[in-house]
Formats: sequence, C-alpha cells, structure tokens
Amino acid sequence: MSSVEQPTVLVVEDEPAQREVLAYNLEAEGFAIAKAENGEEALVLVDEAAPDIIVLDWMLPNVSGIEVCRRLKSRADTRNIPIIMLSARAEEVDRVRGLETGADDYVVKPYSVVELMARVRTQLRRTRPATVGERLEFEDIVLDAETHKVFRDTKSLKLGPTEFRLLSTFMEKPGRVWSREQLLDRVWGRDIYVDTRTVDVHIGRLRKALCQHGGEDPVRTVRGAGYALG
Ligand code: CA
Repeated sequence: MSSVEQPTVLVVEDEPAQREVLAYNLEAEGFAIAKAENGEEALVLVDEAAPDIIVLDWMLPNVSGIEVCRRLKSRADTRNIPIIMLSARAEEVDRVRGLETGADDYVVKPYSVVELMARVRTQLRRTRPATVGERLEFEDIVLDAETHKVFRDTKSLKLGPTEFRLLSTFMEKPGRVWSREQLLDRVWGRDIYVDTRTVDVHIGRLRKALCQHGGEDPVRTVRGAGYALG
C-alpha cells in the first residue's frame, strides 16, 4: 500500500485461527496490526496502540463485543475510531442492535476477506483519508497521499517526511485544533518519546515549506491549545 503511513487495525477475536487469518490478510494489505483475544485486552490496547480502526468480534468471553463497542463509543477520545462488528448471526434484529451500539459497519460470518478489506478501506477513507492514498485539498493546497506530492497554487512544494505527515494530519481535518501531544501521537507515534518543543520546530519548517513560492501562512497558532490549519 502506498500511503502516508500505515494505519493500525485492532483485531479483536477470541478464536485464534480466525484472529490469525484476519491479521495475516490485513498485514498483507499493508496495515499495522494490534491483536486482542478478549474485550478487556481490547480496551487496554485501544489506549496503547491508538488504532485507526477496530474489527471487533461480537461474541467474546466476559466483556462482549457489543459492550466494548458501547464503551468506546461513549468515550470522547475513542468515539471517532470506526468499529466494524463481526457476527455469526445474520438476523435483522441483531443487525439493528449492532448498529445501536454505535458500530460503524457490520459484517456477518463467514465473510469474504476481500469484502472486509473493502469495508475497512471505506471507513478509513472517511476518517483517515491520507492513510489510504486519498487526494486531500485545502484552499490552494493539494496533498496527494498516493504519490506523496504536495502542491500549492499548482506549484510543487518540497517537504520533509515529518512535515508531510504533519500536513496530512492537518488536511484530514481542516480547522481542527491539535494539541502538541495529539500531534506527537499522530505524527511521531505513541511509543516514541519526543519533546513537545520538537512539534514547534517542525511546525516552523512546515510553515516555511508551505510559503516557499509565496502565499499566506495557513497554519494557525491557537494560544494555549496548539495548532490548526485554517
Ligand atoms: Ca468469538
């Protein structure tokens, strides 16, 4: 997969064979994988691995998939992570219950791997378009996540890899204010220790890069909060 970064998929499935097949196929498609075999582990991994999307089995021991979904959808910091529920039961009533928990999509077992991959991509196209190679636009700036190219007013811009990831993060949600910590998580990764001042340094480089052929600085500093594009 040619994209800005590997999106992380959290696979929650108690059946070892099904879990491994799913992880294997997602990995082959270029996704980074986190695996949980029950609901408790899933809830821990959501915080540790910061997944971009969750494929969640309905029938899990102890904390069910429905309960995991309900909890994640009621938390402000996890609400926007798309959840695709897997279920062995195709009845319409179950489908409705599944959607009432806030699940974003629903797949009945046995499912086709190709179809599931397509659904994962559909969700990511909505929430993390840069990770699936989409073309993003904001005013006169165009970022092509497939070719890793950025243009402003049709002129090609030179950007370092970190500035490219910063810009793609901003362009996925124009106007959203990102704190330095959120940018560190998203651009540098949660496992890596980087000082928040590093963010300021790269924001400075991004601003310079965006204005290399002229034009106004589109990055806004929000005092006490962080940065936003537009
Ligand atoms: Ca199961």
